Amino acid sequence: MPDKEIRLPQLQIPRVVILGGGFAGLKLARKLRSKLVQTVLLDENNFHTFQPLLYQVATAGLEPDSIAYPLRKILKNKKRTHIRMAKILEVKLDEKVVSTNIGDVRYDYLVIATGACTNYFGNKNVEKHALPMKTLTESLDLRSLILQNFEVALNENNLEERDSLMNFVIVGGGPTGVELAGALAELKKHVLPKDFPDLDIRRMEIHLVEAGSQVLPAMSEKSSANAHKYLKSMDINVWTDTFVKDYDGETVKTNREALKSKNLIWAAGVKGNIPNGIPEDALESGRIRVDAYGFLPGYDNVAAIGDVALMKTEAFPIGLPMLGSVAQQQGSYLAEAINSRIKGKPVAPFVYNDQGTMATVGRNKAVVDLGRFRFGGLFAWLTWLFVHLMLLVDFRNRIIVLSNWIWSYVNFDRGTRLIVRKYKRE
Ligand SMILES: Cc1cc2nc3c(=O)[nH]c(=O)nc-3n(C[C@H](O)[C@H](O)[C@H](O)COP(=O)(O)OP(=O)(O)OC[C@H]3O[C@@H](n4cnc5c(N)ncnc54)[C@H](O)[C@@H]3O)c2cc1C
Repeated sequence: MPDKEIRLPQLQIPRVVILGGGFAGLKLARKLRSKLVQTVLLDENNFHTFQPLLYQVATAGLEPDSIAYPLRKILKNKKRTHIRMAKILEVKLDEKVVSTNIGDVRYDYLVIATGACTNYFGNKNVEKHALPMKTLTESLDLRSLILQNFEVALNENNLEERDSLMNFVIVGGGPTGVELAGALAELKKHVLPKDFPDLDIRRMEIHLVEAGSQVLPAMSEKSSANAHKYLKSMDINVWTDTFVKDYDGETVKTNREALKSKNLIWAAGVKGNIPNGIPEDALESGRIRVDAYGFLPGYDNVAAIGDVALMKTEAFPIGLPMLGSVAQQQGSYLAEAINSRIKGKPVAPFVYNDQGTMATVGRNKAVVDLGRFRFGGLFAWLTWLFVHLMLLVDFRNRIIVLSNWIWSYVNFDRGTRLIVRKYKRE
C-alpha cells in the first residue's frame, strides 16, 4: 500500500472527498458550491456508467460507449474539483483519511457513494460459474459469452451439449432479469436465426427463475401480472417460487427441476460496496445505516448516499430502494446540506420524492407504476424509452442511443454483435 498522499492543491476551505462517481456521487459533485468547498472525487473507473441500460450492451443492442461517459468531461467546468482514478482500500474515520491504491487523502467531509455489487448469498459455486451484470465490463463479458456459445454450438455434434450452449437461465425476476430475458427473446426471434442459419434456434430456451411468487415483486400486482403475461407471450419460461440451489457450470439445480445450461446469469441480488474501515455497528442488511440526514451514527462529517446507504423512512421502513432516483435525490440533497452547514444555516432531513418504477420487456411492451397510475403496453414502453433517454448524462449519448433504438426498431436488428475480446472464465 502506498504511504504517500495523493497530490492535490492545499486550499483554506473544507475538503469534501466523494467515494464513487455513480448516480449519487456525481450528482453531489455537480451540486457542491465550489466557492465553499474543495471537492475530490475518487472512482476506480474514469467514467460514469448508466446501469439501467447495461442489459442492452450485454445483448448487443448498444455499444458500451453510449451508456458510459468520462467523469472528467462531465465535471470539466467545475472549479476546485479534482478527479482521481483510484481504488478505495480503507477509510480511517478517526484519522479523517481515505487510503487508496494511489495514496492517501485527508478530508473534512467524507461521502461514501460506492454503490452496490452482486450478492450471491454465499453460494460459492454459483459465484464461480454464473455471470453477473453490474458493471460495463461484466456486460461486455456477457455479450461475448452469448455470442461465443453460439459459435461453439455450431460445431457441436452432441445435441444435448448443443442445446445447453443455447439455453439461458436468468436468476432474479426484478427489472434487470425481466429486461434481460425480454432482450434475449428478441435476439432469438429476430437476429440469431439469420446469424446462425445452420443452428435450429427454435431449440433455444430462456428460463427466468424467481424465488418469490411473482416477477417484478417491487411493482404493483397489475404491473407484475402484465409483465408475466408479456414474458410468456415471448416464449420465456417463467419459474416463480423457484430458487437456485447449486450450479456446476452445466446444470442449474433448483428446488424444482434441474435445468441444463452453460449460461447462468445472476440478477438475483445486490449488496452495498462497503469500504473497509466502516464500524460494524453501522452496517445493516449489507448496507451502511444512515440517519435522516444521510450521516453515519456518531459521525457528523461522514455521510453515505445511494445504493450503499440504508436510510429508513416511515414509507420505507426497511430502507429506501436501490434506485437511480434515490441516489440522485440524495446526491442533490447532501450537496445542499453541506453548502448550508458551511454557511451556518439549518438543514432539514432528506425527503424522498417517489418518481415511480418501470420495466420494459420488449418491443412495445413495458410496465409503469407512477403514483396512482399503473399502465402497460405501447404507452408504457414509450414512457420507458423517453425517461431512460432523458436520464442519460449527455446529449451525445442520447443521440447515439436513440439512433440505435430507431435502427433496431425499424430493422429488427441489433448492430453490435461483436466478440471484441473473448470471454474466458478465470
Ligand atoms: C442492471 C441494472 C439495471 C438497473 N436499472 C435501473 C432502472 O431501470 N431504474 C433505476 O432507477 N435504477 C436502476 N438500477 C439501479 C441504479 O443503477 C442504482 O440504484 C444506482 O446506480 C445507484 O447509484 P450509486 O451512485 O449509489 O452507485 P453506482 O451508480 O453503482 O456508482 C458507484 C460508483 O462507485 C465506484 N466504486 C465502487 N467501489 C469502488 C472502490 N472500491 N473504489 C473506487 N470506486 C469504487 C464505481 O466504479 C461506481 O462508479 C439498475 C442497476 C443495475 C445494475
